Amino acid sequence: MPRLKIKMSSNIIDTRDARDRKVKQDTRAWAKYTDTNYTTALRQVESPFAKGFLGERVSARQLINTLDDHDLVGADDGDFILGEAGYYADTPWNFNQTSDFTELALLVDFLRMFTPLGSGEKPGVSSYALEHTAADFLGKFFPPASHVSNGRLIWAAAALDLPLVEEEEASPNLMIGISKREHDYVKRMVRAGHTKPRGHQHRPAGFIHLQAALEQCTAGEAVLDRWERPVPSTEVCPFHEWLIKQAGRGDAIGDWTVHYVAGVADSDHRIARTANEYLEILQEVGASDDCYESAENAVAEWVRICAPSQRGITSIRTPRIHSLVEEADVDDSDSGPFERHEFLCPCGEGKIVEEHDSNADFQDNDLLIECEMCSEDWRFVLGLSAWEWRLEPVTTGTAS
Ligand SMILES: [Zn+2]
Repeated sequence: MPRLKIKMSSNIIDTRDARDRKVKQDTRAWAKYTDTNYTTALRQVESPFAKGFLGERVSARQLINTLDDHDLVGADDGDFILGEAGYYADTPWNFNQTSDFTELALLVDFLRMFTPLGSGEKPGVSSYALEHTAADFLGKFFPPASHVSNGRLIWAAAALDLPLVEEEEASPNLMIGISKREHDYVKRMVRAGHTKPRGHQHRPAGFIHLQAALEQCTAGEAVLDRWERPVPSTEVCPFHEWLIKQAGRGDAIGDWTVHYVAGVADSDHRIARTANEYLEILQEVGASDDCYESAENAVAEWVRICAPSQRGITSIRTPRIHSLVEEADVDDSDSGPFERHEFLCPCGEGKIVEEHDSNADFQDNDLLIECEMCSEDWRFVLGLSAWEWRLEPVTTGTAS
């Protein structure tokens, strides 16, 4: 046993020595590259902000090598291609020599929070847009990063090996291969004057962790939690999947569903995992009566086609198929106005009949499910007026 103990402590010392050696080499390389002294470079390399919150500590030598070796932005026969203002922008690096490395390490972490595009996907976020979002996100925790140059953003992306492509027109910006929806989400979260997203389906995987780590770091606390990129969710939402397929199908449901699809894409609201959530979302966003009625019809259609266990509803209304309204006969004092409205039943084979008959003496409101199958499976929700009837499944009752 004592032998084992000795072996373990020597391993720990080996690891520490290796780490110290790496820090020394990195510091020397950075001091040389940015023309600063060892102590100033060491302060940056060992800064708690540069420790790597969403991955390994960034290596200064790897950053420097990127500018030499990278396929797109690496130097061409010793001439730099990437500079402070961007790609082929003819401006060399303008190092402040006190926070350059820390800023680049933070930019690497900022980019790590997004989902990188897979091969075959076309990069769609400009380095110019990203540089501003990065500055807004990082600047409040690390003030020197409240201005980020286009070149440094590209540098960090290249060091991370994110897909990079040139813009269609010659430009100092490059297109960076991260999820555009996720970038739009972060931009709206951090940039002044933008309304904050109300749906979080496009929140980047590392967003919460990075923000929390930077807050701790700013408060002088040690950040100990390790972050692992989560496995992408495999949650299937049959109603949502069905609904987005209805977008643009050429009727009112198709037209309104286009707005739902856009709202999900733009993080204006969450995903409707169930039909019920769809109606809730429309109430939250203050949808118009027309939109809401169309949504009720969409839900009724969904109920007709899906298995009962997938309905995800508490109650429904169904589309109106026929209305009859008769004014009172002015010559007959016993007569009052009469209304009869017919709606599709949930299965679509029969109908729901709503009748209102009244005169000075009585008010008669009738509701009827005229369908053998649906009258077994559905009942009217108690406590609603006949004008506002809703149906609920008999099996699940009022439980949601
Ligand atoms: Zn029916």
